[in-house]
Amino acid sequence: MALHLTNTLTRKKELFTPQNAQNVTFYTCGITPYDYAHIGNLRVMVVFDVLFRLLRQTYGESHVTYIRNFTDIDDKIIQRAHEMNQPPTDVAEKYIKVFHQNMQAMNCLDPTHEPRVSTSMQEIVEMVDALVASGYAYVAASGDVIYRTNRFPTFGQLVNRKLAEQQSGARVEVDSEKESAHDFVLWKANAKSATKMEQAFIPAKYGAKHFSAAGRPGWHIECSAMSKQLAGATLDIHAGGEDLQFPHHSCEIAQSEALSHKPLANYWLHNSFITVGGQKMSKSLGNFTTIPQALEQFPPMALRYWLLQTHYRKPVDFSPDAVKAAAKPAARLQKAIAAAQAMATAKGTPTEAFIAALNDDLNTSKALAELNKAAAELSAESAAEFLAMADVLGINAT
Ligand SMILES: [Zn+2]
Repeated sequence: MALHLTNTLTRKKELFTPQNAQNVTFYTCGITPYDYAHIGNLRVMVVFDVLFRLLRQTYGESHVTYIRNFTDIDDKIIQRAHEMNQPPTDVAEKYIKVFHQNMQAMNCLDPTHEPRVSTSMQEIVEMVDALVASGYAYVAASGDVIYRTNRFPTFGQLVNRKLAEQQSGARVEVDSEKESAHDFVLWKANAKSATKMEQAFIPAKYGAKHFSAAGRPGWHIECSAMSKQLAGATLDIHAGGEDLQFPHHSCEIAQSEALSHKPLANYWLHNSFITVGGQKMSKSLGNFTTIPQALEQFPPMALRYWLLQTHYRKPVDFSPDAVKAAAKPAARLQKAIAAAQAMATAKGTPTEAFIAALNDDLNTSKALAELNKAAAELSAESAAEFLAMADVLGINAT
């Protein structure tokens, strides 16, 4: 069976057909490095690392472009910079470095591109400028640039809400500069009271024609600008956590498609949450475990095994016991990998049953079962095949 993926846009499991099999393009929204990422973020990274590996296995290593961004200019980072009394760029750099170390420990492959807001400003400013010029955005009295959602009738299609329905339940706040409740900020102008840190990002040198204020981009615009720059108008796959469907991904679609008149992505993939005692894990609820904390408590491959036991579209409940239970089979696999490495003489390919499991909308639990079966039956003849399977799931010996 060829690869099938559940597309949030159509709510159906569809056959995956890339635009160009020589260059399959895939984008995942990355982290905002203002603090340590939590294991909800880890799930996104691990799930889509497996997809990246599967695509490389199918189309060839050099035929897949994976883009994952860093939101390194953001109000949360500026806030943190004030608290730490450090430049915002230093704060971002610190957490990006830790994130990279954590990804390496988890055996997640480096994406092909890791664009940052700070180095994509030209593309962002050009896109905001073009949206104002074409009437899809307006400049408010404060200097903020705001997207005009009424100009984009299918706004919110990813979550199957009609604009009218959304608006009946949402009112424009009294002091808002928005024409309509779902309008969102593309560019935040600096307030008169802006601190030095807030003034750090000045678009003057980027030559904006239709807005002038010094300031910084809103969150959504960066992904539209970066994916256009690195992958063209239409991505094959755009992925992220399910909480990004609305507003973030809905805003990305509105920004990009208003200008390109082409779909931003042909397949939209969303993974479900990590829960704690049935409640969503989040920074705001305070019930989170950071990735560094998790890596202190558990072996990386135990965490990886625990995450991949559950299908990506279903929630995973976190408890130390659940990860500890995954540590045993993970260690067994690691031992088998070390043994297979000593036996294998050439590079192998995964079994059909294993690939068929992953091709069925990334059925990682079934793929793990195939891998465990292969570990139990390991021989000199099957060693290379077994190693190839372990590699697609990103499970290593160390
Ligand atoms: Zn994004």
